[in-house]
Amino acid sequence: MNRKLSKQLCILGSTGSIGTQTLDVVRAYPDRYGVYAICAHRSIDKLIEQAREFHPEVVCIADESLYEPLKAALSDLEIKVWAGDEAIAEVVTMPSVDIVVASMVGYAGLRPTIEAIKAGKTIALANKETLVVAGEIICDLALKHHTPILPVDSEHSAIFQSLVGEDRSEIEKILLTASGGPFRTFSLEQMRSVTAADALKHPNWDMGAKITIDSASMMNKGFEVIEAKWLFGVPVEKIQVLVHPQSIVHSAVQFTDGAIKAQLGAPDMRLPIQYALSFPERLASDFPRADLLQLGSLTFEEPDMNRFPNLGLAYEAMRRGGNVPCILNAANEVVNLAFRQNRCGFLQMSDIIAQTMEQTTFIAKPSYEDYVATDAAARQIAEELLTIHH
Ligand code: MG
Repeated sequence: MNRKLSKQLCILGSTGSIGTQTLDVVRAYPDRYGVYAICAHRSIDKLIEQAREFHPEVVCIADESLYEPLKAALSDLEIKVWAGDEAIAEVVTMPSVDIVVASMVGYAGLRPTIEAIKAGKTIALANKETLVVAGEIICDLALKHHTPILPVDSEHSAIFQSLVGEDRSEIEKILLTASGGPFRTFSLEQMRSVTAADALKHPNWDMGAKITIDSASMMNKGFEVIEAKWLFGVPVEKIQVLVHPQSIVHSAVQFTDGAIKAQLGAPDMRLPIQYALSFPERLASDFPRADLLQLGSLTFEEPDMNRFPNLGLAYEAMRRGGNVPCILNAANEVVNLAFRQNRCGFLQMSDIIAQTMEQTTFIAKPSYEDYVATDAAARQIAEELLTIHH
């Protein structure tokens, strides 16, 4: 492989859903994309397998206790093995890296993304929590360092594609679509007793466990409203969520003359991933096509904020601003995990998030250090609330 002619990727979260699908794109276009580094939290077996296939320069594991077994497993190859959060924050800045694919899950993605932006690397952003927690800092840094942030999230990719050739000042509103998740038609009574296993049967998209629960509770859509606000500079009042169960219209933009532009397609994350890597070009693919004739009709409905209060909480967090979105995210990470471990009921998740938003100290103009402190404080409050409720 010629490392000079191809774009070199650093993939954060390479063993996750977005990471593995990014490697599918690399496999399809080996002359265009090289893998400089892969990083995972603790999925060591998959990471070893990927290292053997793609021969990156650096392999990184966040969990330092796995450094020795990882190093031993790759000792016959000329690959640098690194471990820990410091190593991940450093690998994204390596001179050979062109694009950082930020697909770690949750708050953990914030610091390496900040370092990558400061180093001027193009960011293919899948980690929406980064923008939820610290959108203002991220956007200011990206502007200052002239760093492009290209959305990987399917809705934001659709908005981005609809905006090609347009002036952002002519956006009237953004129409953000949502599948509605597995409980779209459930009554509150039914939702009281749903389990993580029920939620993990998501109808349309193949995703990791954390985001699948966020989709079922519509926190994912709340986060995406915040993500859209930061990526496209549109106030949240101009972002309308539409439930669209077929997941064919991936989102749309309405302009000041009334025109609506949308991007449609089969629900397959490889398309937005590939577009983020190849922009402004489009590359041919054999991904499944959406057959509009076979679909026949596409439907849209209003989201129900009573059954899905998380969506309202996300709007409220943005209206209050400061560190409140960071509190929202921290509390959500705690209850999302607790729900998956059967320590928290489905509807209880929103109650605990709302209470954590009330009880955590408000900071109007947070610094990076304030976000770190807020994240820790909010997690502790959410954990305490969980114990009380249980
Ligand atoms: Mg999405």
